Amino acid sequence: MKKVLVLGAGGFVGVHLSKAINDHPDYNLVAVDITADKLTENAPNVAMLTYDIQREKEEYVRLISESDIIINLIAIANPSIYVSDPLQTFQLDFLDNLFVVEQCVKLGKRLIQFSTSEVYGKSASVYNPDQEYEFDEESSDLILGPINKHRWIYSCSKQLLERVIHAYGIQQNLNYTIIRPFNYIGPMIDFLPTHEEGLPRVFSMFMDALLYDKPMYMVDGGSQKRSYTDIRDATRAHMIILETEDERTHQQIINVGQRQNEISIQELAARMNFIWEQQYGGTAATLKSISGDEFYGKGYEDSDRRIPNATKMEKLGWQVEYGVDGILQHAMDYYHNKFSES
Ligand code: UDP
Repeated sequence: MKKVLVLGAGGFVGVHLSKAINDHPDYNLVAVDITADKLTENAPNVAMLTYDIQREKEEYVRLISESDIIINLIAIANPSIYVSDPLQTFQLDFLDNLFVVEQCVKLGKRLIQFSTSEVYGKSASVYNPDQEYEFDEESSDLILGPINKHRWIYSCSKQLLERVIHAYGIQQNLNYTIIRPFNYIGPMIDFLPTHEEGLPRVFSMFMDALLYDKPMYMVDGGSQKRSYTDIRDATRAHMIILETEDERTHQQIINVGQRQNEISIQELAARMNFIWEQQYGGTAATLKSISGDEFYGKGYEDSDRRIPNATKMEKLGWQVEYGVDGILQHAMDYYHNKFSES
């Protein structure tokens, strides 16, 4: 049995992945995060350790040394925090992650590192504003905005981490796979702003609007697009990567997403409104336009489109099961059941 250490196991992706690893007969799971709330609530049979990477590094060294495979999900992955706290974003997403990478190099461990589709930055709009430009792991340029648009510190931190990992692969033969997720949605994705302070990602903002009669805000018009991936499809992809230890995953960067689920933010709002009215008999939220600076604060800039080239994942036998409506229905059910009073 291989011992798999999941760091950042208490977040959205980590909870779903930890449940899948825990149910797998070949793996012995060790799940770690700074808090255990989501995991305790949603996967009570998963044992969870709570350590803070910023204060308890020695525990992380010990856990890495005792494991065979390290899956690193530690990150801030929320655009509003890139804008409100760029230094903490850099500290956690680059410096603390680098510490994990260096331990894997030193101790000769296999590393599965979660990165982001945001590393591609603005490439699509810069090159081909009107064309369906697919982001390719091996050939796409990674293009970011100016320094005063500090939203890009997240993308830049993740990109530099990927470059360091790649260099460790070349120079010290680090056994790694880097995963670039494309806009996953599912149960437990985020908090809702009615319950906690701050701005979560768009699905949770819209869910909050539906549950609590608020408007849905269209940032900078809402014509920008994203390619959405169901967390169930994403988790299957992560498990395939974990189970595959050959040249298809060794020292590879892999997009997890697919182009069929591309929609604009306006369409996302329309589909959520439609499901809300049809399935739950609720009232549709009104749409309001707002500028990025007004919504997030100064330093925000957006990417127009993110279309993945999914060839590498497809060669691993991955096929996506869920379309946009299936994704939204599943995630909305979770929040509706949890928070709706009716
Ligand atoms: N967005 C929006 N309304 C909201 C929240 C976000 O229009 O209430 C937009 C945001 O500007 C971006 C897209 O929705 O263009 C997706 O944002 P999200 O926070 O989900 O993450 P991203 O894909 O940008 O990392």
